[in-house]
Amino acid sequence: MPPRLPLGAPWTLSSPAILRLQLRPQRRFASSSADAPDVYDVVCVGGGPAGLSLLAGLKASPVTCGLRVALIEGQDVHKNRLPRDASLDSFSNRCSSLTPASVKNLQEIGAWQHVNTARVQPYQEMQVWDGVTDARISFDWGTARSFGPRNPAQPTTIAYMIENINTTSMLLSRLEELGGVDMMTGTKVRSIELGTDTDDMDLSLWPMVSLSNGKTLAARLLVGADGANSPVRTFAGIEARGFDYNRHGVVASLKLEGEGWGGPEHKIAYQRFLPTGPIAMLPLPGNLSTLVWSTTPERAAKLKSLSQSDFVAMVNAGFRLSTTDLEYLHTLNEGQAEEVSWREKHTSVNGQAIPMRVCDVQAGTVASFPLRMRHADTYTGERVALVGDAAHTIHPLAGQGLNQGQGDAAALVRTISHAVQTGQDIGSTLALESYNSERYAENNAMLGVCDKLHRLYSVGSGPIVGLRSLGLRAVDAMGPLKTFFMSRAAGGS
Ligand SMILES: Cc1cc2nc3c(=O)[nH]c(=O)nc-3n(C[C@H](O)[C@H](O)[C@H](O)COP(=O)(O)OP(=O)(O)OC[C@H]3O[C@@H](n4cnc5c(N)ncnc54)[C@H](O)[C@@H]3O)c2cc1C
Repeated sequence: MPPRLPLGAPWTLSSPAILRLQLRPQRRFASSSADAPDVYDVVCVGGGPAGLSLLAGLKASPVTCGLRVALIEGQDVHKNRLPRDASLDSFSNRCSSLTPASVKNLQEIGAWQHVNTARVQPYQEMQVWDGVTDARISFDWGTARSFGPRNPAQPTTIAYMIENINTTSMLLSRLEELGGVDMMTGTKVRSIELGTDTDDMDLSLWPMVSLSNGKTLAARLLVGADGANSPVRTFAGIEARGFDYNRHGVVASLKLEGEGWGGPEHKIAYQRFLPTGPIAMLPLPGNLSTLVWSTTPERAAKLKSLSQSDFVAMVNAGFRLSTTDLEYLHTLNEGQAEEVSWREKHTSVNGQAIPMRVCDVQAGTVASFPLRMRHADTYTGERVALVGDAAHTIHPLAGQGLNQGQGDAAALVRTISHAVQTGQDIGSTLALESYNSERYAENNAMLGVCDKLHRLYSVGSGPIVGLRSLGLRAVDAMGPLKTFFMSRAAGGS
């Protein structure tokens, strides 16, 4: 069987040299169809938010929709889809805050129209404070309380809380609508090797991707959207430098007392920096919310081992009690509910903006993930590009990881489009260079900021504690500086 050729790629058909090369009868792979590589313009490994966004962007653009494209995803994405009629009483514990910039991109590629909107919660205010000194900064675009006169053109939403499965499901629906992607899901990458120059076609320096279904794909451009342990990055020999934070992010889906904070029109995100890491509670629809508590692996293990009522008590304590109280509570194997209730009677939080009390935790949602900082040395190589967590992993304290992946996907679509329009080979390092230069510096800056914040707030005592509180209060008092930080957090520039 001859290798299948990419269809409809204008730069392929406009190059007689390449066309001749590709149409020469092929021999080497004729003996066994299982060995014959299927030739694609783009092979994307990884069907997470970054990979799916890239593919939807390519297929939604009239310039790149003719490229021959394949998706390889180890999990069965169709099984892991959000049912349209999913109950609003329960939410996945893997949620992310999507910035307005990411939502705009999802709208532009036509995916946002497929989102399950009932399960998306915009929020308009953020309360962030130091767990040691109580120094606080508040951001409120909804009422302009913190900025003085508000620019009417300025958006009122800081970010949108959304389950990761809602994001991937909307992207899959958009891909189904657009068509034209060969989906190989429930299929793992077995190995990736370099092709060779044969009589039939010069595939030297082309990545040849061998799959668990026995197929081999030749990729003009191989995209690694395959997460933090990216096999594509390993194949390309690209180093990812960084370190483990020795912290785990404990997540859970929570139920709040009453109707939730601020009413449906004005929702608030809360984050308190503790010396072991920040505890954050972010609003979901109704009286639900999602927790991300970054803490030591030992404390994460303790939290996961608690009964539901003791876990709920610890979350309430995390926003209310002193760091000394919390330290003691973590030494107990059980009985936190009783202990917290007693200690709260002796702790004053009067007048402070803190989240409503948690009254329940959804069964089976308490889990934890190790936190790492990693940054690939480069996002591109010969016929390789990395997007999303394959290129960078970041501390979740600013809710930026998934958003960075959306920014990568949009930028790579632009780069591929430009290469197609100017007749370049989309896999060449020259054509990919603009993607690397556009995204690397921006992501590097955000990785640095989040890392510094983590370090700054890991200090529990000493002069640095006073200085950071002074800094926080100063920024809180300065409208323009706050506006700057807010627009950066929202994905602006
Ligand atoms: C506790 C926590 C809270 C977070 N909160 C936020 C937040 O509020 N906002 C935010 O923006 N980000 C947040 N993040 C980060 C965010 O979850 C990730 O950045 C994002 O999910 C990464 O998406 P991705 O598509 O790059 O990779 P992934 O989602 O990891 O997808 C990679 C895909 O590749 C597939 N794959 C891997 N290897 C193979 C193989 N060999 N063959 C086939 N398929 C393969 C995997 O099955 C997977 O589906 C958080 C992270 C954590 C840990």
